Amino acid sequence: MPDEKTAASRAIVLKPLPRTGAALTHDVQRYQLYHLGRMRDCPPRYTYKALAWTLRDHLMSDWMNTYVARDQPGRRRGYYLSLEFLIGRSLANHVLNLGLDEASREALHRFGQTLEEVAEQETDAGLGNGGLGRLAACFMDSCATLDLPVMGYGLHYQYGMFHQRIENGYQVEDPDHWLRDGNPWEVERAEFTCRVPFGGRTEHYHDKAGIHRARWVDTSDVLAVPYDMPISGYRNHAVNTLRLWKSVSTDVFNLEEFNAGSYSEAVQAANQAEYISMVLYPNDSSENGKELRLRQQYFLVSASMQDALRQWRAAGNSDLTKFAEHNVFQMNDTHPSVAVAELMRLLLDQEGMRWDAAWAITTQCMAYTNHTLLPEALERWPVALFERLLPRLLEIVYEINARFLREVSVAWPGDIDRRRRMSIIEEGPVRQIRMAWLAIVGSFSVNGVAALHSRLLREGLFRDFVDLWPDKFNNKTNGVTPRRWVAHANPGLSALISEQIGEDWIADLSQLERLKPLAEASHAAFHAEWRAVKRANKERLAEIIKARCGVEFNPDALFDVQVKRIHEYKRQLLNVLHVIHLYNRINHGRLDGWADRCVLIGGKAAPGYAMAKRIIKLINSVADVVNSDPDVDGRLKMVFAPNYRVSSMEVIAPATDLSEQISTAGKEASGTGNMKFMMNGAITIGTYDGANIEILDAVGKDNFFLFGLHAEKIEALRPHYQPLSYVENDPDLREVIDLLKSGHFNLYEPGIFDMILDSLLSPHDPWMVLADFRSYVDAQERVAQAWQDEARWTRMSILNTASSGFFSTDRTMQEYNAGIWKLK
Ligand SMILES: *Cc1c(COP(=O)(O)O)cnc(C)c1O
Repeated sequence: MPDEKTAASRAIVLKPLPRTGAALTHDVQRYQLYHLGRMRDCPPRYTYKALAWTLRDHLMSDWMNTYVARDQPGRRRGYYLSLEFLIGRSLANHVLNLGLDEASREALHRFGQTLEEVAEQETDAGLGNGGLGRLAACFMDSCATLDLPVMGYGLHYQYGMFHQRIENGYQVEDPDHWLRDGNPWEVERAEFTCRVPFGGRTEHYHDKAGIHRARWVDTSDVLAVPYDMPISGYRNHAVNTLRLWKSVSTDVFNLEEFNAGSYSEAVQAANQAEYISMVLYPNDSSENGKELRLRQQYFLVSASMQDALRQWRAAGNSDLTKFAEHNVFQMNDTHPSVAVAELMRLLLDQEGMRWDAAWAITTQCMAYTNHTLLPEALERWPVALFERLLPRLLEIVYEINARFLREVSVAWPGDIDRRRRMSIIEEGPVRQIRMAWLAIVGSFSVNGVAALHSRLLREGLFRDFVDLWPDKFNNKTNGVTPRRWVAHANPGLSALISEQIGEDWIADLSQLERLKPLAEASHAAFHAEWRAVKRANKERLAEIIKARCGVEFNPDALFDVQVKRIHEYKRQLLNVLHVIHLYNRINHGRLDGWADRCVLIGGKAAPGYAMAKRIIKLINSVADVVNSDPDVDGRLKMVFAPNYRVSSMEVIAPATDLSEQISTAGKEASGTGNMKFMMNGAITIGTYDGANIEILDAVGKDNFFLFGLHAEKIEALRPHYQPLSYVENDPDLREVIDLLKSGHFNLYEPGIFDMILDSLLSPHDPWMVLADFRSYVDAQERVAQAWQDEARWTRMSILNTASSGFFSTDRTMQEYNAGIWKLK
């Protein structure tokens, strides 16, 4: 959004650039020559830059016009606060949204290059861990496509999600220096730099009117410099902004130290500030409580709230009592929940408001999304750390808590235990701030991300708060953007769908329903084309696997895929146990009802999560044995796909037949990988968990392989869980466990899988893997049966795509807007 002030006041309207192939050729060539200095040859990685700059020029007029159209006093805006945006690549996405596919291809053809090879040069923007960060990116896409005035606020990490290599079967992490070659999409907006305070102390005084006030003084400030990324809507000329903050030192040299001869110390101090936005924390679904992480959270939140206030004023507003009418902030998980206290600070200390007025505003413009029920992911910050880093914020949190607990006491007089449970401050040897409680108390809306998840929150973790404020709590089932995950990732399927029902489905996914009649076997030609598309996608994936992993996947076999972060609750182990079971069947000649399978597992483990890393080693070890055993003879293949990321999912989802969604029931809040697979015609084998339940409802039980204990049964069984009894009573399971114990998969590294065996066989295994083994294996046999009936499988596949309309983030965003944001 170029120069907000002048754009607004003079209402410059930039004209769109010419969009022909010839015009694009000219622009690309100009960048190649006059910007990159490439005269004779311009390899694809440079052409990528030239084309990206060209497309950015094309986005500019829409970006500016979108801004100008919304820059009016009284206009309501939304802000999405997230520590993560897992964007992936942008080029092909903008080409699709701008409708410049043919023109771009024509231009590149002139240089002897294809759009695919040029797009392949782009490094993924991996500014997130997994589902939560990818959700934020899909939300941005849908807001732009719906022309909703929503701005994303995040951090401009220098290093995104680490790069994963596999060495001798073990994960090795390399830093992801994604900005090495620059980021052609971003625009630095130094003029909107903010100052974020840390440390220091507070002073209290009475102002001229005799009102008690606080000052935060002696702070060590850090500058927040915004980098804007354009977020284009699908063919609607709307371009929203993702604003990412980079931390920069206030002054490169502390002059005093410099003069005292401490040159390098002075420079080092400057570097400290820059660490804040240096690296993304690679933990998915768990917190690590590091001081730098709290610094990141406050840095994001303070810069963003200051910026939102500034924008609101720049649009011509001044009456602060109207602020909540004009602004809404959605917090993506508890990570940015200190925003509640920060908005209070700005309103009290900087705007001079009184507490009640400030609190009324805050609680009318903050909204909170919870993403997990895992206790290890519930953020708590030690009071002592908070006090040292954010002393003024701690005072405000205390005051919020004191007033809140008074409300609790009025509602439940004498209920001391309830007060203790609901207090934002957790008492104990180490006093901690419960960030989720702060988010709930400070928000007018609290939502979970799938129907089951929201119900479990209401009945469990948040029950006390539901008693107090039943109307605050709601559900917004997640989604994914069909532009990236179907239109772009699966051009073959997209063309086939559009041939049948036109192109409207791309921005209105409910239209896919119209494919349902075509699922009947009488449409034999359509079925054949459907299979041909899947087949071509499988060939494309098989080639990549062959090149990267040296393993041959036969496209005629069932492609059985589980890609997601490696975590015990997601139960990649259950998948491995099934593969070992299949291997045993081959070795014992039990081949009745056999279907050839290629099993693909991929995902990153948090570098500090020892068990997850060992699971990766097990997958690789089992794969080595299976793939090199001549008796297996191509009936079973297994691969661990390294460095799973957005751009790999774009190739994997379209090529998948069977989508593995096998978490312990009650543990996966929603899942979104499940939705990407469904849209691309994969059939799910899944537990009754997260959004799997809604997928099952949409597609019907005949088109979904359901297995496993439900959440209530899991919890009822937990106290009596006896994994050994399953081993004793199930010969297939016994065989699998015995083979694992025998060291067959780790002949040269004895004992390395003991920790996995111990966990599987422990009555305290929280994920209760063995409880679902039999049910899972039985479901897999139903899968094999269905696979052998080609017509039946094709029908199921078509019905999955046809029933996936609900899982578009366009629907999700419409629900957020109708229920929470109320934007025009
Ligand atoms: C969709 C996606 C995820 C989330 O997958 P789940 O199966 O829902 O855990 C994680 N990482 C990437 C790269 C994704 O595209």
